[in-house]
Amino acid sequence: MGACPLCQENELQAAASRPGDVLGMETGWVRLHRNQRYRGAAFFVSRLCVREVYHLDRDVQPRHLDELARVCEAIDVAFSPVKMNIESLGNGVPHLHWWITPRHADDPQLSAPIWENLNFLREMWTGTGTAEPTMLEADAALLRLELLRQGGGD
Ligand SMILES: [Zn+2]
Repeated sequence: MGACPLCQENELQAAASRPGDVLGMETGWVRLHRNQRYRGAAFFVSRLCVREVYHLDRDVQPRHLDELARVCEAIDVAFSPVKMNIESLGNGVPHLHWWITPRHADDPQLSAPIWENLNFLREMWTGTGTAEPTMLEADAALLRLELLRQGGGD
């Protein structure tokens, strides 16, 4: 196990299912964000420890992007948002992972990025706002079912 926290998370997800763990796909792992202020918010984390999407081998890259789109589509079907936000950040942990944030009709700041939501930021900075494990398990199951229905997963 290396020092990269996302490599460690991937290994933990491979070893046992925890609340919020959704599924392993060919090129990445799907898990719900512990903060569910945006219901269905998830990460798609590359199996390979590369910094940027363009660092994936040319044969892996299109498959990874296709799987990213399928994860987003499954979140769309499972949680019925009105818009999907997708970001590759990784400034803190430079292991390719996608923030997938469904935006819902009742979002009071729907036209703004999530990073302008001060309540969300406070929860991120203080490590609060973690969803109940039972809720994470139920929503992870919902999303897993949709991904499997699409034919994803290993
Ligand atoms: Zn890594």
